Amino acid sequence: MNATPLDPDTFPAFEVYTARDLDRIPELERLPQQMRFDMKVVSTVLSFRVNRYVVERLIDWNGVPHDPIFQLTFPQRGMLADEHYTAIASLLQEGAAKDRLEEEVRRIRQALNPHPAGQLELNIPRDDAGNPIEGLQHKYPETVLFFPAQGQTCHSYCTFCFRWAQFVGDKSLRIATSQARQLTEYLRRHPEVTDVLFTGGDPMVMKTAHLAAYLEPLLTPEFAHIRNIRIGTKALTFWPFRFLDPGEGDALLRLFERVLAAGKHLAIMAHLNHWRELEPEPTQHAIARLRGIGATLRAQAPLIGHINDDPDVWTRLWQKEVALGIIPYYMFIERDTGAKQHFAVPLVRCWQIYRAAASRVSGLARTVRGPSMSAAPGKVEILGVSSVAGEKVLALRFLQARDPAWTYRPFYARYDERATWLDELEPAFGEREWFWSAPYRALFEQCEAVSA
Ligand SMILES: *Cc1c(COP(=O)(O)O)cnc(C)c1O
Ligand code: SF4
Repeated sequence: MNATPLDPDTFPAFEVYTARDLDRIPELERLPQQMRFDMKVVSTVLSFRVNRYVVERLIDWNGVPHDPIFQLTFPQRGMLADEHYTAIASLLQEGAAKDRLEEEVRRIRQALNPHPAGQLELNIPRDDAGNPIEGLQHKYPETVLFFPAQGQTCHSYCTFCFRWAQFVGDKSLRIATSQARQLTEYLRRHPEVTDVLFTGGDPMVMKTAHLAAYLEPLLTPEFAHIRNIRIGTKALTFWPFRFLDPGEGDALLRLFERVLAAGKHLAIMAHLNHWRELEPEPTQHAIARLRGIGATLRAQAPLIGHINDDPDVWTRLWQKEVALGIIPYYMFIERDTGAKQHFAVPLVRCWQIYRAAASRVSGLARTVRGPSMSAAPGKVEILGVSSVAGEKVLALRFLQARDPAWTYRPFYARYDERATWLDELEPAFGEREWFWSAPYRALFEQCEAVSA
């Protein structure tokens, strides 16, 4: 790894493009007219945001449209179902009035399952008075997810992101809070919580001072039960200067040093889809800086059609991660939301890719868990295809479960080559339900009784 510091004078300014700016991106000028119109149509419904650095340094414009980073950041025709595409395309072509267009956009977004996996109903913790606490999710006993209000955007948006509902500016769909006090009050009352995971959007879009307001209270002896602080981010590759800038970047590193000095495990959960993201020098420098202060880096990413549905990509990604000192952690399956039809990869195929990629790397890269679906009852891992008593099955297990008693207990689904999500699977051996179905229903009813 190159240890010579980069010259801050060479850092680019942060410049971002959104749907309005599609005509201003010089790189798009050489693309066919139809493709540019398609982008306009898709970005009317799904959020689009990309920064200049990603456009210049990560996308290989000679490989467009197949370039994986282009697929990762720019709207693609296939992201909308034909009927939705046609509806928006004709409104745009006939120059429809703004409110007619907006109404159609709203209708389509509602049809795209904006909050999968019962996120709104089941995961929102409540205060003593039973009022929901916004910006917190507490699904598994040991870990609380925190969505800081200032972190509900990203340096660029991923086309497949299941959080898209938070970005499209519809307040009723947002899960966020600006109140660090609510977080600390909740954690004070929950000594079973050991992990706090800062997520978003991307918490690294926040100013260091805002992040400090959330993190510093957790460093006091009162919060000794909080052992692990994780920060989920894609900034290492979308905007590595967040960690390198002599002002905000240095301040961030000093803040992280205080977290570590307080005895916490600090894990940067890097979202990395493709090994190409790890090539640029600024990214490697940012990783080296974080490792230098003793932060742990782990990597997680979904397996996505058109982006990384290829074992070679994962082999190289994991090898590169290990080389840079990042621990491969999770391989996720794309959620049942948003532009799923464009990006979905069948469960069986996901497992084949995982297995093929893992079989080519040493044990140091086999720390990755998955492929895993973050479904309503928990994180379900595909253990693999097998045959039990003459029946072809898919073996599954919970890596995380709404009831910890379900964890790691294998269960079996009838083999199905096309299924892309848990709810498309059926129990094997002619059983009517999963072993967890009845207790899960009971949890749900309990929860509805609370919120009613
Ligand atoms: C994945 C996840 C966690 C963390 O699980 P680990 O296995 O500890 O990484 C916590 N909460 C939710 C809702 C999750 O999806
Ligand atoms: S960086 Fe993360 S939260 Fe932001 S768009 Fe990509 S996947 Fe979604």
